[in-house]
Amino acid sequence: MFVVNVVLDIPLRQGYSYLSEQQLVRGTRVQVELRGRTQIGFVLNCIQSNEFNDYPVAKLKPILNISEKNLSIPTDVWELCSFTANYYHHPLGNTLFCAIPTLLRQDKEPSYNISKNKFYQLTSSESKIRGSKQQVLLTEFQRQESLSYKQIQAILATKPDKIIDQWITKQLIQEVAASSVNTTVQALELNTEQQQTVATISSNFGKFHVGLLYGITGSGKTEVFLHLIQKILQSKQQVLVIVPEINLTPQLQGRFEKRFPAANISLINSEIADKQRFTAWMNAKSGQSNIILGTRLSVFTPLKNVGLIIVDEEHDDSLKQNDGLRYHARDLAVWRAKQLNIPIILASATPSLESLYNYKLGKYHLYKLSERAIKTAVLPQIELINLQHYPVNYAGISQPALDKLRACLERKELALVFINRRGYAPVITCYECGWVSQCRNCSSNLVYHHEKHQLKCHHCAYQISAPPICPTCRNQYLHTIGHGTQKLEEFLQQQFPQAKLKRVDRDSTNSKSAWQDIYQQIAAQEIDILIGTQMLAKGHDFPRLTLVIGLNLDNALFSYDFRASEDMFNILTQVAGRAGRAEKAGLVLLQTNYIAHPVYQFLQQHDFNGFINHTLRERQLNKLPPFCFYTLIKLSSLNETHLKQAMHDLFAEAKIIPHNEVTLFAPVPAVMYKIHNRFRGQMLISSHQRAALHNYLNKLENKLTELKNAAIAIDVDPLEV
Ligand code: ADP
Ligand code: ZN
Ligand code: ZN
Repeated sequence: MFVVNVVLDIPLRQGYSYLSEQQLVRGTRVQVELRGRTQIGFVLNCIQSNEFNDYPVAKLKPILNISEKNLSIPTDVWELCSFTANYYHHPLGNTLFCAIPTLLRQDKEPSYNISKNKFYQLTSSESKIRGSKQQVLLTEFQRQESLSYKQIQAILATKPDKIIDQWITKQLIQEVAASSVNTTVQALELNTEQQQTVATISSNFGKFHVGLLYGITGSGKTEVFLHLIQKILQSKQQVLVIVPEINLTPQLQGRFEKRFPAANISLINSEIADKQRFTAWMNAKSGQSNIILGTRLSVFTPLKNVGLIIVDEEHDDSLKQNDGLRYHARDLAVWRAKQLNIPIILASATPSLESLYNYKLGKYHLYKLSERAIKTAVLPQIELINLQHYPVNYAGISQPALDKLRACLERKELALVFINRRGYAPVITCYECGWVSQCRNCSSNLVYHHEKHQLKCHHCAYQISAPPICPTCRNQYLHTIGHGTQKLEEFLQQQFPQAKLKRVDRDSTNSKSAWQDIYQQIAAQEIDILIGTQMLAKGHDFPRLTLVIGLNLDNALFSYDFRASEDMFNILTQVAGRAGRAEKAGLVLLQTNYIAHPVYQFLQQHDFNGFINHTLRERQLNKLPPFCFYTLIKLSSLNETHLKQAMHDLFAEAKIIPHNEVTLFAPVPAVMYKIHNRFRGQMLISSHQRAALHNYLNKLENKLTELKNAAIAIDVDPLEV
């Protein structure tokens, strides 16, 4: 008999013990009973029952069922999860269950069929073929070394099994092992910097090597990926590509498919259906897929034979998960690459301060692409509009910006109006009594949505129709203050009645095909002005775009959050990078009241290095990350008194634990004090030594379970403080 320690989806650091007749290896998926319910768990360890003396063996419950070996968690994922649980101080069980697809978590044996991408080759030169589609297929076979099942399917535009069978029977084709990757699209000839990057990184294949690929937008970073991926595929290995936003996958996927038509690409993100995600997971695990392309959660994908990891837009906050298991996919990806002894590329036009600091420490290697790949494409010119001289109108836009917009429309080119909405959105107010529309569940104002004349909370689901008169003093005239995308859209439409406008924000890009539609519309010249928020800044490639106007930027400079100006710099650099990517020069106009502010000065001169050095100096001076390490203990409760009690108790406990090298800050109410009826507080802990901080957290963690008054979460390396 054996005693098996099983990890379940419960917030406990250790597993539960069960009896088994069979010896089981770590990662095995089992079904057990817990508190009268059957549950899925995974084996942590297994010992002879006579070695077990925590508890009478006779009282242990048996393992009910053992899943087949294919459904177990492989060692590399297990190790990653175990590191993640330790580093982020999150229970191992919850971590594992967060990492795996839903179907593996459920108490039901999931069915799967591993999709094998088969390859076929012409064996005879005979060409008596009927049907025009089949004729096309034959021609295609004659042109290429081999065709994959998927390619044949695409050519015939139907399920090709019958025809493949027929052709094999006729001995016209035969199945072959996946040959070297047959690329149909000719790879571009790389420029010197690209060549050097590809050469150095590929000379580090099979070794742990972090390449920080810093290249301005349009400098050909993706082209570098494609060349490296080609080499990886040729050596029959897999590549994992992580992007921060689902929106960015279609563009990349398209480029991968074009360049590597024979490759099997697995998509992993939260929007794909459970069954598909499970299949993608199984394909990656069995080595059937070559390219795994996903959002942050794809960092946990099992990989049979991975040779390279790429994290695109590595500076992007969306790589960090901000609830439940609060992990940073970039940091975990680096850990994983180290564990697997393979290179990893962190790519960005505006690398994060953390990564640049790691480069300065000698841990990362820097690869620079300093020119735009398409020779005629030049960096956009950045001009600042001084709002002290040119005030904005009610929609938040100044006259010089409108003039340039008109000129752009006359040239029949695409313009983008970017509105920075971080912490700023239209609200309704009464000038008589000062009433402002407030959410009843949160400490935030309700945002006015013009289309349906509604007030919506952007933190919880609360919404009401906008009141016709002031609810407090019955004044008949209510005012909207602040500028939102909708108001701007309305104004611009009035100004330019002929122009075709497209608003891009969370509300308008909900559907899956939304981005594809936008690209198509742009290509078909059905859009003249794009209006949108942050979303437009990220990695999108708009060929005809020559004018970018940035509105409402200044509020980021005065944020409580020390990262706000870095974020703003990055976003503006990214937005600016959208302009003039092809042969047309771009112009970027930034409206500000503070033209002398260093952020704008660095921006205007495209001086990213200057900005980074300036910011690093500032951080060092103020002892802020990355010059020290932060952890937030977050508390929340539906009851304000309970929260206050818990904050008090937490601090009392925290101070008792020895904390040499660790600084404790007294708990404070969160900036958003109330969200969805929960009151929130936080306690900051910092240290200049990571190890000291983690030691301390391990001890504190044990005490946290005793605080009954509030829900508690640990956020290691928080992005927002
Ligand atoms: P990034 O990922 O850095 O934004 P891309 O790889 O998308 O840059 O390249 C920008 C544009 O330049 C694309 O249209 C790409 O096809 C083109 N390009 C990239 N590298 C080269 C090259 N070596 N020669 C010619 N064109 C290139
Ligand atoms: Zn009033
Ligand atoms: Zn709310």
